[in-house]
Amino acid sequence: MIKTLIAANWKMNTNFSEAQQLTRDLLSSINDDALVETVICPPFVYLQEISKLLEGQSIKIGAQNVYFEEKGAYTGEISSSMLSDCCEYVIIGHSERRQFFGDTNEIVNKKLRSAIGHSLTPILCVGENLEERENGDAEHVVGAQLEESLNNIEKTVNLVVAYEPVWAIGTGKAATSDIAEDIMRFIRSKLADIYDNTFADNITLLYGGSVTADNVKDYLSQPNINGALVGGASLDAQKFQDIIDKAGEVAPL
Ligand code: PEP
Repeated sequence: MIKTLIAANWKMNTNFSEAQQLTRDLLSSINDDALVETVICPPFVYLQEISKLLEGQSIKIGAQNVYFEEKGAYTGEISSSMLSDCCEYVIIGHSERRQFFGDTNEIVNKKLRSAIGHSLTPILCVGENLEERENGDAEHVVGAQLEESLNNIEKTVNLVVAYEPVWAIGTGKAATSDIAEDIMRFIRSKLADIYDNTFADNITLLYGGSVTADNVKDYLSQPNINGALVGGASLDAQKFQDIIDKAGEVAPL
């Protein structure tokens, strides 16, 4: 059984007091017995303080990115060892990192190694853009992202994969649950090729892209979707809590 995971990517949003308030609002509404694991990924500068608010609570914390070098003259960057002081998760290879900051599969591979080496759980993001989907290349693109990103990385329990079609992120144009399920099935079979069936059968796969409380159950009712990565709707405590509640209604016992 794979536990349902709902992760929030706050991106470059909130000021400090808003970040604290959002966290407190979630803490006051979250159900501790939930069948759903909840992770929030605030901006770097708030991680330490938000992690203090989460001490002893069921909500976990993650970062939105990491740099692969251990330390040194890399102005502005944050290493896995720094994150490991306060985080359990880290998003790696988000399409916005790929699009605006030049994160290639090779860089993603280095970031994954660094994160896993520091016992962080990476949420590896993959997904095709609109042109790639329209050309029928979605599986080819996602397959290559998985192969190259995981190249020579030993299998580890510390890995989550998020399928986020670029055309569905922040657009309100969510992929249908059938489209998402088709690619998720493909991702699981690709991971079985790269590692083995046991690994593929047990890994947590998330769908991301315009997830809301209205559509989350459609995704989670699919056999190969174990959770969601949520952007916009995670910035409103009530909307995010509604997503968690709906996810709980279809979560495996
Ligand atoms: C994301 O950026 O990871 C994301 C899924 O965003 P949204 O939910 O806003 O589409």
